[in-house]
Amino acid sequence: MTLPASVTDELLAAITARVPSTAGGTHKLTEVYSGEVVVELPQSTPEDIEQAYAAARRAQMTWSQWPVRKRVKVFKRFFKLLVERNDTIADLIQVESGKARRMAVEETVDPMMIMNYYLPRVRKLLAPTKRSGPVPLVSTSTEIRQPKGVVGIIAPWNFPFATGISDAIPALLAGNGVVLKPDNKTALSPLYGVHLLYEAGLPEGLFQVVCGDGPVAGPPVIDNANYVMFTGSTQTGRFIGQRAGQNLIGACLELGGKNPMIVLPDANLDETVPGALDAVFRNTGQVCMHVERMYVHDSLYDAFRQRFVAAVEDLRLGAAYDFGPEMGSLISPDHKDRVAEHVADALAKGATLVTGGNARPDLGPAFFEPTVLEGVTKDMLAGCTETFGPVVALHRYHSVDEAVRLANDTDYGLSASVWGTDLTAAAKVGARIQSGNVSINEGFAAAYAAKGTPSGGVKQSGVGARHGDQGLLKYTDVQNLAVMKKQVMTSPRDPADFAKQRDGMLKAMTFQSKLGR
Ligand code: NAD
Repeated sequence: MTLPASVTDELLAAITARVPSTAGGTHKLTEVYSGEVVVELPQSTPEDIEQAYAAARRAQMTWSQWPVRKRVKVFKRFFKLLVERNDTIADLIQVESGKARRMAVEETVDPMMIMNYYLPRVRKLLAPTKRSGPVPLVSTSTEIRQPKGVVGIIAPWNFPFATGISDAIPALLAGNGVVLKPDNKTALSPLYGVHLLYEAGLPEGLFQVVCGDGPVAGPPVIDNANYVMFTGSTQTGRFIGQRAGQNLIGACLELGGKNPMIVLPDANLDETVPGALDAVFRNTGQVCMHVERMYVHDSLYDAFRQRFVAAVEDLRLGAAYDFGPEMGSLISPDHKDRVAEHVADALAKGATLVTGGNARPDLGPAFFEPTVLEGVTKDMLAGCTETFGPVVALHRYHSVDEAVRLANDTDYGLSASVWGTDLTAAAKVGARIQSGNVSINEGFAAAYAAKGTPSGGVKQSGVGARHGDQGLLKYTDVQNLAVMKKQVMTSPRDPADFAKQRDGMLKAMTFQSKLGR
């Protein structure tokens, strides 16, 4: 297939030149739609990664001394570049991920949304906070936020630009350097994002990108870091968490899901049906928060099923660098085989195919039809583990208690969606679901796009959160700076003086406790 005009050899050479690679190994990065090689992506050795950290650390020493206002200016220029180069970013995302253009464009705006939240408030967030000290009037304590140093970010392929760049923005704003390891399949768009950050004035060396297979390049990224931000599968997340624990560094782990959607009896199907379509098939079902299990009340089930299946069968699939197709490719032939295996396993164990179920080699090597199943049970792969593809299981329920029980019957807890016109009742149902994110009358985007609220998983879906104030403060250490204006805490040697000091202390404590009530 002809690559988009913006994806020139010069651009590819300029961005991949940033990857340190002394041993000269490469990975064949392919265009997903055709399987043709786009570029030989340099691979970093563990020594290259150590050197990348050393360079980021040198740059970070100066960057952390910059006033926050000066750091913010770099990101304001970066914002403008993201708007100006929007087409090129979307082109790169599409080439390396095979997603539909609509979805690639949505991904390009994620870093802008992140900046819209953090840029106006980062100075306040990082400003020292004065608190009272242990002895009223003569002592103070100040909470001072210091950058952790260099943050290692390990990112997946499904949102390479968003997870590579958006998670780095609060880390950099807080005064850290960053070493990013994207997935080998999708390194181009994050490399271009870093390229634009340097164009916007980021000090040279501060943001490094290293490339390699996860099991080879991942461990040195963790071992040299002061903090790890990981997005990926639950299985890899467990390894990252263990390694970070051994190194006694913090880690934020954003992992997989098996996300439920509940359609309550009063749901408006005119909104629910298109919403369900988005919730399941956006990004070809390769969204950590997308819906894989749908619970529909008995009173609406037949009507919902009929309208939903008709809408699924009407979805436009295709490989095109324009806004025509509504659903694009899966990331790779391997992943397509994994999705096909989940469907075949479900059918072999008694599930029913309502629509879809087949690969579409006529469209490209990794296309798979949007698929709806019924009768999926927990002994099937598609019933208990993340499929991460355009496949959904429909279930009928009779009472809200039953729907909540079924929604919670999973090891995951990333996202849930509840649909109903009585918003208070729907929110009450949402509160009963063990999930880090709940969207009412939306598939998942409402929660994910609310950048002011921390977003993370519970149960096996993660530890910690991105977004919100905590999404930036997690990249800082707190220094507790306590000052005594006069030394009154030293223990007197004379027992009588000590007793007097104790009486004074107890009196002061009693007084303070009354103030607090
Ligand atoms: P993955 O865990 O296979 O890989 C993620 C990243 O980890 C890649 O960069 C990979 O190279 C690296 N990696 C792999 N093995 C490693 C190791 N041993 N040590 C260090 N790094 C290693 O996940 P994936 O298949 O690329 O991504 C899909 C998964 O990501 C899905 O489970 C999805 O739900 C999850 N995801 C979660 C979120 C979220 O916010 N919760 C967002 C996007 C994707």
